[in-house]
Formats: sequence, C-alpha cells, structure tokens
Amino acid sequence: MEVAFEDLCSRFDRYLQRLRAGGDTQRGLVILDKSAHETTLQQMAVGFRTLGTRWGVIRLLADTPLFVDSRASRVIQLADHVAYAVFRRYQAGDTQYLDRIGHKFDAEDGVVHGLAHKELGNPHCTCIACLSRRTGNVR
Ligand SMILES: [Zn+2]
Repeated sequence: MEVAFEDLCSRFDRYLQRLRAGGDTQRGLVILDKSAHETTLQQMAVGFRTLGTRWGVIRLLADTPLFVDSRASRVIQLADHVAYAVFRRYQAGDTQYLDRIGHKFDAEDGVVHGLAHKELGNPHCTCIACLSRRTGNVR
C-alpha cells in the first residue's frame, strides 16, 4: 500500500507538472476512501512534500489527502469502478472493462503514465502500460 501510494502521488505530481508547463497552474488534491491507513497515508504525504519520494519532492498537491466515505462520494465510487477494471485486467485476465477506459489514463507521446504494471520478468506483456513503454504508441 505504501509503495502504491508513493507511486500514485509521484505520477499525479508529474501530471500536474506537465499541465503547468503548458500554462495550466492548477494544483491537485488526492481524495481517498476512509480507511484504517489514514494516519499513515497523511504522514507519508507530508513527507513527500518535504523529504520527497524516491522520484523527487511532491510540489503541486494543494493539501494533504482528504479521506471521505465512499458511500457519500460519487468521485470515490467512480474511482472504485476504475480500480475494479484494473483489478479484473491484472488479476483475472478479463480486459472487457479496462478496454473501455484504458484510453483515459494519462499519457504523453503515446506512453501511458497514469497506469503502471509492476510485474517484473515479462518483457512481452501486452497490457497498455507495458506496451506503450515498449512501442510508445497504444492509441
Ligand atoms: Zn503489463
């Protein structure tokens, strides 16, 4: 969970940096489902903004993460659907959901940055994250 959160924050910050380079100066806000990990994730987020992640200091998040009840938040329910699509693709090999939304993940010059496949040892993986890094074009 900590590795995933660090990766997520870093990717989001890089996305915001690219927006900023194009003249869009908005900052980002991470909204998470309430969980038992709230204190840990809050502390990690503070550390990312001061000490940095393994990929650099997080600069463009407006605040520490907000934790909300998913039953009361449509945004969190939407995120649950995205997470389910990713889960089905990588845990069950079922691509039907991710195929519908895969083109929505952040990408630049054909390389998908908003989705990462952390499996090592499969240089022939055909998921959109791996394929885009090998070919630079999945869209
Ligand atoms: Zn892959």
